[in-house]
Amino acid sequence: MRSSRLLALLVLLPLPALAGGPVIILDPGHGGEQAGASAPSGLKEKSLALTLAKKVKKSLEDELGATVILTRDRDALVQLSERVTLANGKKPDLFLSIHANSMPTQKQRLINEGIETYFLSAAASGEQAKKVAARENAEVGGQPKGAAGDTLSFILADLQRSEAHHDSSRLAYAVHEALVQATGAVDRGVQQAPFYVLMGLDAPAVLVEVGFISHPQEGKRLAEDEYQATLAAAITQGVGGFLRQVTARDGQKE
Ligand SMILES: [Zn+2]
Repeated sequence: MRSSRLLALLVLLPLPALAGGPVIILDPGHGGEQAGASAPSGLKEKSLALTLAKKVKKSLEDELGATVILTRDRDALVQLSERVTLANGKKPDLFLSIHANSMPTQKQRLINEGIETYFLSAAASGEQAKKVAARENAEVGGQPKGAAGDTLSFILADLQRSEAHHDSSRLAYAVHEALVQATGAVDRGVQQAPFYVLMGLDAPAVLVEVGFISHPQEGKRLAEDEYQATLAAAITQGVGGFLRQVTARDGQKE
């Protein structure tokens, strides 16, 4: 099964993308004293993000021949700006940040579940997206410093004309659709918001909220090995689809 799927990918994937394989940065959210969200079971977002990122890494290596670099490979605090600097230094083909969602009140926790995929925008695509960005940005006190510390207006002017921004949107849709299809989870859509960890990146970049860790059923599912494997395979499928799209397009330009 695995080898036939790999063969299918190899046939579909134009050669340039395979030369040396794509370079991909995976960014497990939070870490160390920044635990992120928590499940009723006690599962922490930082642990889930790391476990899942390791599975996605293996899957990307096996299926796409990718070189995959994690922004953290253990339970350690890494500043958002350090993640951006590390990523840009590797000149990756894409950047993917892995998070899990949560709701603040008990009532909302029972209702809200599903997957959201984000790419960078100065203005959030809705109230909910704004709240998610505020929560994910919370570990930076005040204005972000360093690589991610440019002012929002500068970034906005820059990203509007940047090809990477358009590709971020493509990447978001490719990964999101694969995730929703593979899991049958509630489709909360592709959204945009001002995430610090996506600012200042040169490569196409997305942030995936793989589910609500605070939801009674989804929170439990997210902790299951098999469900994590499904998520990892779907992310790989989406990334593969995205790489084929851009390789075909860039091939036409030349
Ligand atoms: Zn998070």
